[in-house]
Order: sequence, then C-alpha cells, then structure tokens
Amino acid sequence: MAEIHFDPRMRREVDLDLLKLQDRINHDFDFEEVVGEIFSLLERRTNLRGCRLSALGRDLNKRPLVESATMPKKGKTRGCPTLSYPLPLTNDEIRHTLDIYSFEAAQLNLPESDLLERCLDLLYQSVNKDFDERDYLTGLYNRRGLEPRLARFFADAKRDEKPAAVLMLDLDHFKKVNDAYGHPVGDLVLFEFAGLLADVAAGCLVGRWGGEEFVVVLPNADRDRALAAAEDIRAKTEKLKIWVDKGAGKFVSPTCSIGVALFPRHADEAETLIHFADVALYEAKNAGRNRAELYPLDAPDVRLRKLGAAVEKGPLPLRDLESECEIISLKSRDLVKGFPLAVAVAGPRLFILDGQTKKVYVYDGAAKEFAAELGGAGDEPHQLEGPVDLAVSPDGLVLVVDAPNHVLKMFDVGRGFVGFIGGRDAEGAPIFGYIKGALNEPVAVSVDGEGRILVAERMNRRVQRFTAAGEFDGLEVPLDAADVAPSYQPDPRDVAADRAGNIYVLDAGNSVVQKFDAAGHYVKALGGPGPAADAGRFKGVTALAVDREGGLAAKLREAGGASGAVVTVEAGDVNRLQFFGPDGTFLGLLDFAKIGLKFGNLVRPGRLTVTARGNIYLVDQGNADILQLSFAGEGS
Ligand code: GH3
Ligand code: MG
Ligand code: MG
Repeated sequence: MAEIHFDPRMRREVDLDLLKLQDRINHDFDFEEVVGEIFSLLERRTNLRGCRLSALGRDLNKRPLVESATMPKKGKTRGCPTLSYPLPLTNDEIRHTLDIYSFEAAQLNLPESDLLERCLDLLYQSVNKDFDERDYLTGLYNRRGLEPRLARFFADAKRDEKPAAVLMLDLDHFKKVNDAYGHPVGDLVLFEFAGLLADVAAGCLVGRWGGEEFVVVLPNADRDRALAAAEDIRAKTEKLKIWVDKGAGKFVSPTCSIGVALFPRHADEAETLIHFADVALYEAKNAGRNRAELYPLDAPDVRLRKLGAAVEKGPLPLRDLESECEIISLKSRDLVKGFPLAVAVAGPRLFILDGQTKKVYVYDGAAKEFAAELGGAGDEPHQLEGPVDLAVSPDGLVLVVDAPNHVLKMFDVGRGFVGFIGGRDAEGAPIFGYIKGALNEPVAVSVDGEGRILVAERMNRRVQRFTAAGEFDGLEVPLDAADVAPSYQPDPRDVAADRAGNIYVLDAGNSVVQKFDAAGHYVKALGGPGPAADAGRFKGVTALAVDREGGLAAKLREAGGASGAVVTVEAGDVNRLQFFGPDGTFLGLLDFAKIGLKFGNLVRPGRLTVTARGNIYLVDQGNADILQLSFAGEGS
C-alpha cells in the first residue's frame, strides 16, 4: 500500500494539478482527456483504482464514457464497483456516475477523501460541460460537439499529412419505422444504430449530425479502407434486430445508406468533406439505399484545384462564368419603366412588375411592342396595392402577389383580372390567418412543371400549393417542421420548382435553400450561411430561380449542369449569382464585382428568373433595371 502523508510539498503539487485541470475545463476542454487526467491524478495520489465514468442510456443501461487504464478488462469478471458517486446535471437530472472498482485501504484517509471530493467537483463540471455537446438519446456528440472536433481533427491530419475519410450515414426509410411502430421504437433504433457505430468505429470521431443522420471520421483511411469500413457498417446494420414485440416475434431490421468523402483527395477541410459525403449519400439513396457510395474520384483534386483556380479552365467552379456571360440592359432598350420588382418570361412575352405604377407591363417580343398593362394602383379587385412578385403559368395566367391584401391576383392578358387565390373563404368572407388555403403576408409565387402554383408566406412561414386553376391542392410545406430543423426562425422569401415538382424555398433567416419533393417531404438544404467570400454558401441571399426546362443546364453541361439547377442571388456584401445542381452540389458562381458593366456598376440584384432557353433575367434594383444574362453554349 502506497504511503499517503500530509506532506505539504505533495499537497502543493496536487493543488497545482487540480488548478491545471480546472483551467482546462474552463478553456481547452476535451471531455475524455480531462476526465482521463482526473482519473490518473486520483490513482497517482490515492489507492483508488479502476475508475469509470458512465452515463445512463435510453435503455436505462449504464454506458461507459471514460475508463482509467487500471479498470479491470472486459472478459474478466469486473464485479460491482466498490464506490459509486452520482454526478448530477445542473437540471438536477442524474445520468452520470463515477464508479471506482477497487481500493486497497479499508477506508480513505483525510487527504485522499479531500482529493476525491475535489475531483468529484471537477467531474461534475466536466459532465455538465459535456452535456451541452452530446446528444443524450445516443450518447454521441451532437453537432455542437462535433464541429470543433472535426476542425481540430482535420487541422491535425493536414499537419501530419495522414489521409482520412468522412462517412455520412442516414437510416433508410426511417419515417416508416416511426409511422409503423411509433416514435419510442424509432428512438430505440437510433440508439442501437448509434451503439453499433460507436463499436465499429471505436476510437474514431462519431456523432449524430441531426435527425437520423450520423457522421463517422476514420483516421488513416484511404479509399479502400474507407469503403471497407462503410461496407462493414452497412452489413452489420442490416443484421441489427430491434425487438418491437418479442412474444409476437416482431422486430425492426434497419438499413442505412452511406456517403464517403476522402481527405485530402476531395477536400481538405471538414465542411466541404461533410458536404461531399452528403452528396455521395444522396447518390446512395438514389441508387436504391442500403449501400455506400464514394464521392466521385474524378472530381477535381482539391490541391490541383487550388493551384489551378486562377488560370485553368475546366469544369465548374473553375469555369470563368464572368467572361462567358453576356449581359444586356433592358432599360437601355426602353423595355423597363419605373421601378421593376420582378420579371417573368413565357414564350416571346416578357412580363415586368413595376413597383411605382403597380402595373404588370407585358412586352411582346415577336411583335416588338407592349401588348398590355395589368393592375395599377388601387384597392379594386383588378388593381394592386402592394405587389411584390409575379409568375406566369403555362396557360399564360399572370399571377401577382399583392402582399397587403394577403392574396394572389390572377390576370389574363386579354381579359384582365380573373380571380383571387387566398383572401376569401368558400363563402367569400375575408380571411388571412393560419388557415390552410389562406395566405398571410404572401411574399413569392412560382409555377411548377405541371402548372401548379406555389406561394410562400412570410407570416405563416410555409409554402402552399394551388392547382393551375387556383384551388388549394392540399399541400402545405411548413418551414419550421422538425425535418427541416432550421437554426433560426425561418424567413421564406422566394420559392421555385423544377420539372419534377420538387420545391425549393429560400429561407433568408437561415441563409439556405430548402429542397422538398413534390409531396412536400424535406429532401435537403442547399447553401447555408458563410462568410462573404465562401463559394457555395450564402451571405445576404435574397432570391432564387430554378432552371425548370433545363435550358441553362444545356449551356453549362460540360460544367456539370443538370436539369433543375438552382440559381440564387445575393445582394449587399456580395453581389453574385450562385449555381447549384438539384442534388445540392455547388456548380459555380458569377460575381458581378468582376464584370465591368457598361451601364453603371451599381448592381443590387433582386428577383430573377431562368427562361426555357436558359437565359437569366435579373432585376437590378440599384439601377432600376432588368438585366438579361446569357451564356454561350448549346441551347441559345
Ligand atoms: P430515406 O431513406 O430517404 O432517408 O427515408 P427516411 O424516411 O429516412 O427520410 P427522412 O430523412 O425524410 O426521414 C427522417 C425521419 O427521421 C423524419 C423524422 O421524423 C425522423 N426523426 C428525426 N429525428 C428523430 C428522433 O430523434 N427520433 C425519432 N423517433 N425519429 C426521428
Ligand atoms: Mg433517412
Ligand atoms: Mg434524413
């Protein structure tokens, strides 16, 4: 038995060790490391051995989080701990315990019990700090816990020049599990799957990215090792059996899809790697699920890309969109009057919504003359009080959002005003609350490939769909649903749809474009907030458009364009267009600061639209102008 004395020098050393640990908890905090060091301090200075900190899991079993090296190994019978201390959370919940398996003395002497008490206080602080960084359904790191660790991991990997892989995992058809057996069973599946990941990827960074999406970072993994690990996880997941009713022999066997991205082959920092792994995951889902997909190896090598970015011409984002883009000012051609707010193009016709006169001007490109004026200021049904957006349906119906009246007004170029969407109930009484089919501060309108009308509302933070005839078709897409999980209050500003009816909503509150399928199910987020210069992220994003007919994709084809490409526009700190594939891949950007505009450089982009032929019409609010942008290439 080691001698423990009231040795003042030793006491000072212990005090110093405790102070250092306290400092680490306050500053450079790594839960496992700090707890490990608290254990080693305890074991160095007392006769206590075999320390383990565990937390109660959902299944009410204790899950070990950190163990000291002297902990009896598995296999040998561990027996019961000799001492057990609860470590309550600040909300009074008790999930954590410190178990100590053995100590040689019959009882703790005073300095030992004093040190133990001070260590318990440090553990208590550590546990509470860690609680914020963990997802307590699964015990894995949550996003808050993951992000700094990912950053640190890749900074180290870069320094050590070691390869690594990021796996993005998503349970397949998980909604069905919830729907068939209820949320608690869904939770249990998540818990078991997380446990499997923690086992298979022991020693790796593992976390719950959100919902039923998980991240695993494999150190020292090249392509083959990464794919082998992904396959291992996939195969083991398939074999999981989560019992729903043992008596009836009912169980759930989940499967998962996995996307893999490689460091440094695909990218050299966490955010992009996660994004690429996510793109690959999406491919895995598309390819039938229960499989792993590698982000394409023929994607340009990030190291080459950095070297060549300035000179090389190749697939986006290298392509120099600025110099390939031709811009025509419609104002200089006398096509724009007053103060344009929004623009639409249908066949040879150009529709311009003007904020000053509150009229829609219809220009007939074939006859080269203005064919009609719709609306005008006023509160009569055929007039507009506060128009903010317009769209034109395939039938030629002109749809104008009249925000202060909480309605959409429908016009026909020949007949004028033909009806409302929203604003009135079936009996004709005015309505604008949170009622299905009603509109509350509508902000944007768009039409999908089947002529259905989509309307985004700021107040109700949702998108609703109406038939081509203007009847509510039952589809309501709330932006603050659990599936979408925005960080801040969603603020829908614009909406668009592709040929397949997928719906894209621009949420300015969270600086993302949320994609939903035609049934209103959340698919994924494009973009996301970022510093001004971050390509593929947003700073002050205000509007979006979708290349519904694929005309733009045809022009950008060699650049990886695809039908349904999404174009966004940012105003303020940056003035630029960004291009995304329908799967969320960032394709490239066009920075207006790099274009010497002949007609004045002040560009504050507003609403935009992509025509069937792949041209972009963009409202330039700064110059009260509309610009037509066209790219060279097929399809013009
Ligand atoms: P897919 O194969 O395309 O991934 O289909 P899916 O049904 O898994 O699709 P999706 O990602 O849209 O569904 C995720 C579901 O996960 C929606 C949400 O209700 C559920 N979910 C998210 N977090 C939790 C949770 O903590 N517990 C439970 N029980 N369900 C959750
Ligand atoms: Mg899923
Ligand atoms: Mg998911």
